[in-house]
Amino acid sequence: MIVVYRSSDLRSLLDACRAEGLRIGFVPTMGFLHEGHLSLVTRSLEETDRTVVSIFVNPTQFAEGEDLAQYPRDLRRDSELLEKAGIHYLFAPDVEEMYPDGPGRTTVNPGRIAEAGEGRFRPGHFAGVATVCTKLFAIVGQCRGYFGQKDAQQVAVVRQVTKDLDLPVEVVACETRREANGLALSSRNGFLDEEMRKAAGAIFNGLEAAAKLASEGETKPEALIAKVERAIGTEAGLKVQYVEVVDPETFEKVERVDAGALITTAVFAGSTRLIDNLEVPASS
Ligand code: AMP
Repeated sequence: MIVVYRSSDLRSLLDACRAEGLRIGFVPTMGFLHEGHLSLVTRSLEETDRTVVSIFVNPTQFAEGEDLAQYPRDLRRDSELLEKAGIHYLFAPDVEEMYPDGPGRTTVNPGRIAEAGEGRFRPGHFAGVATVCTKLFAIVGQCRGYFGQKDAQQVAVVRQVTKDLDLPVEVVACETRREANGLALSSRNGFLDEEMRKAAGAIFNGLEAAAKLASEGETKPEALIAKVERAIGTEAGLKVQYVEVVDPETFEKVERVDAGALITTAVFAGSTRLIDNLEVPASS
């Protein structure tokens, strides 16, 4: 594994790979890696010839008052995990390398989708994601980009941006990895104590119960939403911020539940904000 700190160095290395006909797989992350991240890495290793993972805690995707300073970091442990996994390049730029003239000058605005769903509670978040992904894609060049469905709206934003800006990236969405009780793996789960981790299993239970309701023929979003709210609301320490049923491309709320819609939620477990989602299955 080669660790690269400079954008220009990574570009040269990957240009040389492509010149030899090798396919590049790219996994962008903010580090503090867990099995969810590693499942994207495994997929990239299986489907491409050279895998590059980036670790960059992107300041522009944290809204005012969010946990940028507290965001967990452990580059040494991450690079050991990635080396063991067998990746080829680790790109670990600092903020100065990514934003030499300071963050926020030229930005990518994904439009309406950025205001829906998570965007209502995280102003500027998706513009930050769109901007950093556009920059990373410009550095990495033609590749397959691996993203987790756990951050479903991020996947939709990145797909939209690559399409609208003709970026040479094929976006691949990968299934959410979960703990045994259903809690979606997240770098922020480290903030939860044992009791809270157990309680947070109710988030996925609620989503599953709502998906089951839909598979039995329920078409009213309110019925699904109530199901999730009830499952989560009964757990001490959990507080629902929102539950919605949305179109998977636009993240606009749907008026009627159909297969493929997403049930999305954000929940506070104490002071830790967790998000999750589940696709509505075809009715049985
Ligand atoms: P992050 O480091 O949180 O920015 O995440 C980097 C990538 O890993 C994103 O594409 C996430 O959607 C993905 N990811 C995070 N958690 C999971 C998970 N539990 N299962 C699968 N992918 C995940």
